[in-house]
Amino acid sequence: MSKLPPDRAEGVFVDFKPAYTPAQAVVEANRCLFCYDAPCIKACPTSIDIPQFIRKIATGNVEGSARTIFDSNILGMSCARVCPVEVLCVGDCVYNEMGVPPIQIGKLQRYSTDAAYEAGWTFYEAGESTGKSVAVVGAGPAGLAVAHRLRRFGHAVTIYDKRSVVGGLNTTGVAPYKMKADRSVDEVEWVLGIGGIDLKLGVSVPGDVSWAELEDQHDAVFLGFGLGPDSVLDAPGADLDGIEGAVAFIERFKLGGVDLSSIRNAVVIGGGNTAIDAVRELVGLGVQNVKMIYRGTESRMSGYAHEWKAAKQEGVRVVWQAQPVAYQGEGHVTAVTCVRMDDAKQPIPGSEHDIAADLVLLAVGQAKLGELVAGLDGVETQWGRIVTDDDGATGRAGVWAGGDCRNGGKEVVNGVAEGRDAAEAIHAYLTGGA
Ligand SMILES: Cc1cc2nc3c(=O)[nH]c(=O)nc-3n(C[C@H](O)[C@H](O)[C@H](O)COP(=O)(O)OP(=O)(O)OC[C@H]3O[C@@H](n4cnc5c(N)ncnc54)[C@H](O)[C@@H]3O)c2cc1C
Ligand code: SF4
Repeated sequence: MSKLPPDRAEGVFVDFKPAYTPAQAVVEANRCLFCYDAPCIKACPTSIDIPQFIRKIATGNVEGSARTIFDSNILGMSCARVCPVEVLCVGDCVYNEMGVPPIQIGKLQRYSTDAAYEAGWTFYEAGESTGKSVAVVGAGPAGLAVAHRLRRFGHAVTIYDKRSVVGGLNTTGVAPYKMKADRSVDEVEWVLGIGGIDLKLGVSVPGDVSWAELEDQHDAVFLGFGLGPDSVLDAPGADLDGIEGAVAFIERFKLGGVDLSSIRNAVVIGGGNTAIDAVRELVGLGVQNVKMIYRGTESRMSGYAHEWKAAKQEGVRVVWQAQPVAYQGEGHVTAVTCVRMDDAKQPIPGSEHDIAADLVLLAVGQAKLGELVAGLDGVETQWGRIVTDDDGATGRAGVWAGGDCRNGGKEVVNGVAEGRDAAEAIHAYLTGGA
């Protein structure tokens, strides 16, 4: 597995939610009411038995606590850091109804899972060999979750990924104040520790290995190739230097160095979570003037309110109700020309104005990669997403899908849930149970 360079620009960021000490963890765990029919479990896409793992921390059984988490979510270590718990488990904790601070479930989960990594507890062994083999396309959260569970059932697994780094967006996209790339790579090593997962990096499907070859060599296929490149805003001047997709930029500074010393005015276009991450990251990387340009109002932003609140506290400024229509500059971008939008989202005639910018990041979505499956008869797509049943089965026998390529772009925890559930269905298929 390829190692990451040590001098990555992401190194300047500090953890925004510092870890609990053992004493803090026990105090917080003892606040839990261990609710019957706990709403926090229902709010977790992987249905971790949250009261049970918290009770085990309270009684000093940290190893058992970690096991409870990993039984449902094999990426429990990274999910403890990157999950938007404010809108999932923590947001549904009963304490919210009482006006009392909710249980810090993410921090408790981090306490247990970090302890497991430090102690070297791996918990799981590969099942007895079934002689069956599964191809997994994509080494992101969905692909890792399906691979690990399939190994527990005893099926051989080969993961193909076009990149040289493992972990998908968990490594290349997640904000470094939540988790740095090397922590994600450590997690992949921990998952692969079960043994018998053959990792083929730098291999694109169907470019380097065709669908026909994949189906010939394996008994089932799981598609977990995520989303494609950043979408572009086609406008005059779009090919000037200094204009880049936000996800591509984030990958660049997470995996290596970036020189932003000449940047005076950075602009991020968009109002979703990637836009919010990008503005916070530019501020953290030392850019003096960072502005977000969003065509709607604050109430219409698709990014999470808690993330936006944190961005504002860090000094990020925003231009509301502005739509870029052109980029200015000769060779390199110097400004973005915007038109003001009215409350009905219509451009206001004559309202064009320039916003100075020598770096422009586009955070207006990512392409869907549905066209990759054009050669796989029976696998259908809708708006570029792979269409499946509830277990992830596509319309082609032996082919499943999960994660962003199926759900259109959600969270790490959704990819894990979909990968895990697809593994159960694939196992039933391979052993004649379905
Ligand atoms: C900037 C950003 C920040 C995010 N922050 C968070 C966060 O804080 N918390 C959170 O929960 N979620 C976050 N997400 C979302 C989360 O990262 C994704 O939902 C999750 O990674 C999806 O997992 P996946 O396995 O489906 O896809 P991915 O993680 O995208 O992995 C897909 C893998 O498939 C590989 N691949 C693609 N095409 C091919 C091909 N043709 N052949 C072979 N391999 C291929 C890719 O190289 C990649 O490794 C963020 C997303 C972005 C863009
Ligand atoms: S809802 Fe809150 S108090 Fe109840 S079990 Fe979950 S974390 Fe504990």
